[in-house]
Amino acid sequence: MRLIPVFFTLAGILSAAEPALRYEQIRKIDVHSHIFEDVPAFNAMFRAAHLRTINVCVPGGDGHLEEMHRIARDLYRKHPDLYPFTATFDVRGVNEPGYAAKVIAWLDTQFTAGAVAVKIWKEFGMEVKDRDGRFLLPDDPRLDPIYAHLAKRGKPLHAHLAEPIDAWRPLDKDSPHYGYYSQNPQWHLYGRPEFHSHAAIIAARDRIMEKHPTLVVVGAHLGSLEHDLEGIAARLERYPNFHIEVAARTRNLARHPSEKVRALFLKYPDRIMYGVDQTWKPYLRPTPPTDQQRQAHVKSLEVRYRADFDYYAGSGEMTYNGRKTEALALPRAVLEKFYHGNAERIFQLAAAKP
Ligand SMILES: [Zn+2]
Repeated sequence: MRLIPVFFTLAGILSAAEPALRYEQIRKIDVHSHIFEDVPAFNAMFRAAHLRTINVCVPGGDGHLEEMHRIARDLYRKHPDLYPFTATFDVRGVNEPGYAAKVIAWLDTQFTAGAVAVKIWKEFGMEVKDRDGRFLLPDDPRLDPIYAHLAKRGKPLHAHLAEPIDAWRPLDKDSPHYGYYSQNPQWHLYGRPEFHSHAAIIAARDRIMEKHPTLVVVGAHLGSLEHDLEGIAARLERYPNFHIEVAARTRNLARHPSEKVRALFLKYPDRIMYGVDQTWKPYLRPTPPTDQQRQAHVKSLEVRYRADFDYYAGSGEMTYNGRKTEALALPRAVLEKFYHGNAERIFQLAAAKP
């Protein structure tokens, strides 16, 4: 009799215990997207993939606030099964009296129209200034009434605060964020001491949760701690209402040792959500996109969704974003939470459906 070799890797045990899951088989929610046009090809791709997106309105200071929300609300009304949406608010005027009350009134109208959450962006901490010319941190007392209101209404704060740590480091061609910072130098802060440090902005974000313990906070982009899995775990431990999503940071996860990433998912299966952070904003273009451009966007998005699925659900060696890594081989129960269960619970999506 021949002995059958036994592989004691976690991936081996899981793949032996469970049949491989196919991409189409799992219901998916991309909790972080910016789609601002009703494109039948997008809708068809989403439906075929059993996927819906949470359409995030952002930023709050570029002068397109009303238009952006109108498009998001129209999309949600037309396709409530595909486009639940997250509102944001005007960051200008924070130094004016009555600011918080105005923001609260605006957000309430968006909640009435169906908004499931509120996005706050890195403008706070890195762009908006107080009257003395200092960058306003996101735990500024002027914002507290807004956070208290969200906690009372049970609406999560989807927080993209700070940036990847690479924004504070010299430009590095090997960084996954090189493309962004070489093209968006206004957000590259290396050698610019007038800006807050990464740690100072993250600490301010954490203080929001200390001041408002019942507020549900979703840290976008791994809570801007993509370089520090221990730092993520420490905050998930410390703040029971803190969650994270992986939008635009799967490429960062894939650079960590897969055992460590897998351990994070297995320890906190109820706290991590799927997202991609794709942007389709024809309202910012001088001329409308062509159908060819729309098709190309849909194609590239589907490629991204499938590559992500191979990383989270597949097993063994793989190439992600041009680099070799080991797929996470997450158990089905964890994948179901990551891909939809957590988002349905946290954003109360079942209740938001017609
Ligand atoms: Zn985004």
